[in-house]
Amino acid sequence: MSNGRPTVAIAALGGTIASTSSAADGSAIVPTLTAESLAAAVPGLADVAEIRAETLATVPSPSLDEATLLRTLRWAREAVDAGAAGVVVTQGTDTLEESSYLLDLFWDRPEPLVLTGAMRSAQAPGADGPANLLAAVLTALAPASRERGALVAFADEVHAARWVAKTDALSTGAFRSPSFGAVGRCVEGEVRYVAPPVRLAPLAPPTDDTANPRVPLLTTYLGDDGSVLDTVVAGGADGVVVAGFGAGHVSASMAEAVGRAAARIPVVFASRTGAGPTGRAIYGYPGSEVDLAARGAVGAGWLSPLKARLLLWALASRGPVGRDELAAAFEVRGSLPTG
Ligand code: ASP
Repeated sequence: MSNGRPTVAIAALGGTIASTSSAADGSAIVPTLTAESLAAAVPGLADVAEIRAETLATVPSPSLDEATLLRTLRWAREAVDAGAAGVVVTQGTDTLEESSYLLDLFWDRPEPLVLTGAMRSAQAPGADGPANLLAAVLTALAPASRERGALVAFADEVHAARWVAKTDALSTGAFRSPSFGAVGRCVEGEVRYVAPPVRLAPLAPPTDDTANPRVPLLTTYLGDDGSVLDTVVAGGADGVVVAGFGAGHVSASMAEAVGRAAARIPVVFASRTGAGPTGRAIYGYPGSEVDLAARGAVGAGWLSPLKARLLLWALASRGPVGRDELAAAFEVRGSLPTG
């Protein structure tokens, strides 16, 4: 708190929001801007909060890694311990749905941790970065945002990290929560939520930033014979997520590969459709959810393949994951918020 204003800490990691071009036609943008310059570009920001800005990375988000996010987690904890009402992380949008969920799994404070980015670069006409950053700071400041884990503020909507996805390559409205919709809106400077918070117990992060279990994600496809999964398992994966058809289904040949894999490592099946859960007991054919569960794989529930991969990564980052631990984690985190 300074001069009556609460403090919000902003960390910049790079992405389009921080990107500029040195070409006359504005092409070939790359991340260059610091957290200070992102904050300085938002009219009125200093009126709502005392800003502490720090640049933790200046990378395009496809090149973000888990170690940088674990460092960001520590920075965020230190910021709230030093008195910040909330924290904001700016980064590229390409991996925003993943980094927000990884941070959400580990975020163990009541203060809001809000991520945002931009679809248009800082110099582009109608740049959306300043509006998104303002919405993120307002979200971080709102008492109603507390106890909600990590949130994504984008285009004046607030999304839960568990459900949000980038659903368009270039639209400024790229972020949606396909199964449930946004949890809140930022309107006339106020952040309002559709429902009270539902908080899941945070996981302990790996103690070692270099922990990096190999947890690939494979999307199945028409005619998948399971040979790619066999190769991945033989190559030494610590766990694998299969993005299956429909409610989490694969071909009969792939089902056999899933069984071979599940005998050795944790295997999770999710839905590649982009919305809705994996089934539990609807279908019984070879490759169905009932069959895959009988072969030792675990359904992701409502988690998307990308989120399921991160949950498995987080579990595996602490050591080998048993079948019961795997099933329990996905039962809790893959379920609907209210039951
Ligand atoms: N490719 C960019 C990135 O993720 C896209 C963006 O930031 O919107 O860094």
